[in-house]
Amino acid sequence: MGSVVHADVGALLGLQKEDAAVHELEVALAALGPKRVGLDKAKAQLAEGLTRARAAVAAEETRQRELQERIRDHKAIHEKNVAQLDVVKRLREATAAMAQVDRARRVLADEEGELIALGRRLTEARGSVQTLEQDAVALDAEQLAPRAELESEAVRLTGELDAMRAQRDQAATHVAKALLAPYNRIKTKRPGRAVVALAGPSCGACDTVVPLQRRSQMIATGKVEVCEACGVLMYAGEG
Ligand SMILES: [Zn+2]
Repeated sequence: MGSVVHADVGALLGLQKEDAAVHELEVALAALGPKRVGLDKAKAQLAEGLTRARAAVAAEETRQRELQERIRDHKAIHEKNVAQLDVVKRLREATAAMAQVDRARRVLADEEGELIALGRRLTEARGSVQTLEQDAVALDAEQLAPRAELESEAVRLTGELDAMRAQRDQAATHVAKALLAPYNRIKTKRPGRAVVALAGPSCGACDTVVPLQRRSQMIATGKVEVCEACGVLMYAGEG
C-alpha cells in the first residue's frame, strides 16, 4: 500500500519539475517582448522626428509661398506708383508720390531680405529631413539582424514550450485526480514549491506545525496532505 502512495509523491514531484521547465520557457519567451518593444521604440522615435522635420519644411514652404506672393503684389503696386510719378504734375502731389515710392521700396527690400533668410532656413530644414531619412534607413538595416534573431528565438522557444507543455500534460496523467486539482490550484501561487516535504513536525513551506496524529499517519502511509495553513501539498520525506 505504501508503494502506491509513494508513487503519488513521485508523480507530483515529476509534474512539478515539468511545470518548472514550462515556467522557465514562458519566462524566456516573455523576456523577448521588451526587447522587441525596445527596437520598435527606437524606430518610432526616429519616425516621429522625421514627421516633425517634414512638417517644419512644409511650414517654411508655405511661408515662402506666401512671402513670394506678397512680394509679387508689392512689386506690381510699386511699379504702378513709379509709373504714376511721370504723370503727376503738381509739386505737392509729386512729393507725396515720391514718399510712397520710397516707402514701398523699403518694404520690398525688407521682404526680400526675409525671403533670403527663409530660403536659408528651408535649406537647413530640408537637410534635417534628409539626414533623418538616412538615419531611418540605417536603423532599419541595423535592426534587421536583431529582429531576425528575436523572431527565430521566439519560434524556437514556442516550439520548445509546446513540446514541454505536452510533456507536462503527460506527466499530469500520472498524478491522482484527487491531488491534481489542489496541485493546479496552488502551483500558480507557489511555482516550483507546490509540493513540499515535511520539515520536522512542520509544513515545509509555511512552518505551521502539523498535528502529531496526522503527521504519524502521513509517515506511516506516505499519504499526501494539503496544508491547512498555506495550501501546499505535503508529504513525509526521508528523515
Ligand atoms: Zn503550509
